[in-house]
Amino acid sequence: MNSSSVNCDLSAIAAPVDDLLPDLVMLRHDLHAHPELAFEELRTAGIVAKALSLLGLEVHEGVGGTGVVGTLCCGEAQESSALSVGLRADMDALPMVELGQRSYASCSPGKHHGCGHDGHTSMLLGAAQQLVRTHKALGLSGTVHFIFQPAEEGKGGAARMIEDGLFERFPCDRVFALHNWPDLPLGKVQTRPGPIMAAADRFDISVRGKGGHAAQPHHTPDAILAASQLVAQLNTIVARRIDPGESAVLSVTRIEGGRSHNVLPAEVQITGTVRSFDTASQDRIEAALRAAANGVSLASGAEIEVKYLRYYPATVNTAAEAALALDAAHAVGLHAEVAPRAAFTSEDFAFMLQRKPGAYLWLGQGRADPGQDGERALHHPCYDFNDDALPLGVRWFCEVAKRSLAAGVPG
Ligand SMILES: [Zn+2]
Ligand SMILES: [Zn+2]
Repeated sequence: MNSSSVNCDLSAIAAPVDDLLPDLVMLRHDLHAHPELAFEELRTAGIVAKALSLLGLEVHEGVGGTGVVGTLCCGEAQESSALSVGLRADMDALPMVELGQRSYASCSPGKHHGCGHDGHTSMLLGAAQQLVRTHKALGLSGTVHFIFQPAEEGKGGAARMIEDGLFERFPCDRVFALHNWPDLPLGKVQTRPGPIMAAADRFDISVRGKGGHAAQPHHTPDAILAASQLVAQLNTIVARRIDPGESAVLSVTRIEGGRSHNVLPAEVQITGTVRSFDTASQDRIEAALRAAANGVSLASGAEIEVKYLRYYPATVNTAAEAALALDAAHAVGLHAEVAPRAAFTSEDFAFMLQRKPGAYLWLGQGRADPGQDGERALHHPCYDFNDDALPLGVRWFCEVAKRSLAAGVPG
């Protein structure tokens, strides 16, 4: 796959928002240089809130920690038939060292915008600017909520905003979000009805014997042998307990125990992750994992404790909103297609999609040459958001807002 396979005129897409771009690029570079971790996005949230206020929007700060919501009322927004839409961007950076050599590289050691949330925040602010100046001419009627969430990277900022009354305070008939996607060329977008990103679970298992002399194994349950048997059984769960037509993965990623050649350790720790695309699969895998642990415990005499944590649910698009997202992309000149499959990475926009109809879009940004300073693989130490994607995201957000407010009540 390469950029030449995409038939869209990127300069034409940029044209209606051309004048916004120099400031958006400066903003994006400023956010990149000042990355902030989950729930610490005070500087970023301050910049966002100030920009939204200057646009004349009603602004609410501190939603779910450091979240910000700006509200734009268009036309007859107070009419009972008027619709509302939530457009969401994430603001947090990753706890990792940036290795790219660029003029706007991270000024905060150990923090890096390695997932492009600096780009997402900039695009959504650009969309707010564009909608403020065009909604009257477009004849829009309804409410647009610009939702800037904290802590997408593993800390569940979306869930915190929802617990803080996000959808009661800012009712949304539909919600949309995007993520830059280095595996797709610039100008191409994908999404799909149903699951688009996986549920992410974690398990931590303690296998306890008594410990003892390696030459006297009959005096203690062998925690290493029990752990080995359990790891082998865990690797059969997806193959034997999940419908072959469904997708899931279970990986054991850490096993730790013992320090000597002649001592049987008292305890072995096992850790791993489970990815799946629906709650039924999560339930089945967790139950099978616990049953396997009980079985090995009974057979070996080792005491086995299982902790099973469900981090993010699967990100599941509603069909009508996935179609709306693709139609909007097509309308602004992007090459839009249905994603052939979901990704096994996870995303906490999932919590918003559990409550509201909506869709999550992959916005192609292409990859630089591997190994170069411009590397664009997500979470890579040299990752950088592609500024050429800024106008594409701005226009997509605007078109999604326009279509959502005109689309009628979700079915
Ligand atoms: Zn990420
Ligand atoms: Zn991300």
